[in-house]
Amino acid sequence: YVEHEIEWTYHGPTKGPRHWCSLFDTCCGRSQSPLNLRFGKHDVTLKQNERFSFIKYNVPLESVTLQNTGHTAMLSITNKTISPKISGGRLNKTYVFEALHFHWGSSDVVGSEHEIEGRRYPLEMHLVHYSEEFSSLALAIDSNATDALAVIAVFFNIEFFNNTKLAVITDNLDAIRHRNEKIVVKTSLRLMKLLPSDTSQFFRYQGSLTTPACNEVVTWTLFGIPSYVSKQQMAKFRRLLASEKSEEAPQEMSDNYRPIQDENEREIFIYSN
Ligand SMILES: [Zn+2]
Repeated sequence: YVEHEIEWTYHGPTKGPRHWCSLFDTCCGRSQSPLNLRFGKHDVTLKQNERFSFIKYNVPLESVTLQNTGHTAMLSITNKTISPKISGGRLNKTYVFEALHFHWGSSDVVGSEHEIEGRRYPLEMHLVHYSEEFSSLALAIDSNATDALAVIAVFFNIEFFNNTKLAVITDNLDAIRHRNEKIVVKTSLRLMKLLPSDTSQFFRYQGSLTTPACNEVVTWTLFGIPSYVSKQQMAKFRRLLASEKSEEAPQEMSDNYRPIQDENEREIFIYSN
């Protein structure tokens, strides 16, 4: 997630997703995200040595920074010396974890950015990584290399029970209800615990950031098996506001997803272990 000087929104008559293309040239490209993902096109079984490596994904994070960016709730690792990485899974490179954030709906039938077979989920989490050949996320994005970033997406279904792995995030959302609010929380959370219990199948395609400037620099990995979240936890996401505390009219943050983009000539692969 990269903050931009030009204002943009998910709603409203002039700065919403339908206007991003006129506000940001790069949002008009032919490899935009998100997409509707479908089964049965390019199914590939990965060899043993092609499986995903989650490096330091099992290290306790100690302390995380939670932040309301005005567009999403974002989690980053406070101690920068813990540097989780991913490689394998037919990624070209090794990628460093930068931060994770969420997209969600005001009701359970919308919220995710990507769809699977035309189905939307109420919540989608993005774990943003940049290629280790760059010294920062911003430099990776500016490179305009199509494989500069690797984003992992996790879908969530509504279940009866709370997802205790998400609790460190959901239990603290009230403290960052307004835009630009930020807190540091001690936690033994490991990134691995935020992934679905079954990560053996994933979609892969070449796309873009789903927020302006929509740079086409992202190798997407989307796990086919969703994780879960409770109704109570979803309600906490839905209380977040896109407006600052000082603003008179509160603005909802929910429905912070970009509409489905054209696939054009791209291929969507399904990899299985
Ligand atoms: Zn995102």
